[in-house]
Amino acid sequence: MTHLPEHLLNGYRNFMQGRYASESGRYVSLAREGQHPETMIVACCDSRSAPETIFDSGPGELFVLRNVANLVPPYEPDGEFHATSAALEFAVQSLKVKNIVVMGHGRCGGIKAALSNNAPLSPGDFIGKWMSMIGPAAETVASSTLMTSSERQTALERISIRYSLANLRTFPCVNILESKGRLTLYGAWFDISTGELWVMNKDTGDFERPELD
Ligand SMILES: [Zn+2]
Repeated sequence: MTHLPEHLLNGYRNFMQGRYASESGRYVSLAREGQHPETMIVACCDSRSAPETIFDSGPGELFVLRNVANLVPPYEPDGEFHATSAALEFAVQSLKVKNIVVMGHGRCGGIKAALSNNAPLSPGDFIGKWMSMIGPAAETVASSTLMTSSERQTALERISIRYSLANLRTFPCVNILESKGRLTLYGAWFDISTGELWVMNKDTGDFERPELD
């Protein structure tokens, strides 16, 4: 009997023999000196949109928060449990990250559920409640009969990124540091079917392909 799935044990073995062995100095110094990532990424839980993989990052480089559909809720100091807000606060106030990237992705199940009238998610469920954060936008996009379903999906995936960026700015710590030029917010969207990364133009809100060298 194993106490961990076999594929995880195999992966761990490969990690120790490969990456950990070749980067052991970095792991040791990170353990000794602590983490100082400059960038926080808010991404979806989706197994196909792992930021460390997409951005080819090593240990200590990215502070990653993943939740369903990469949403940032508005600032709500109401005494409830706010996992996303807690991670955000830690990144901004303790780690003092310089960048926050909200990264959405294609074929997002959370976005699909928000767009679907017959999603198997009742408003009383956790995901239904979570996705209701973008309820008005989802209703507007879902009613756009001129668009195909995949166009609606992509549209809401990108609209929700702009929504999360706006919510980020409702956090006083984010707002103050951004106004001082010590924190920069970004939006990005990753197409899992083609590997394309699209970045949000801060002036227009449009998503564009970045120029790579
Ligand atoms: Zn997703």
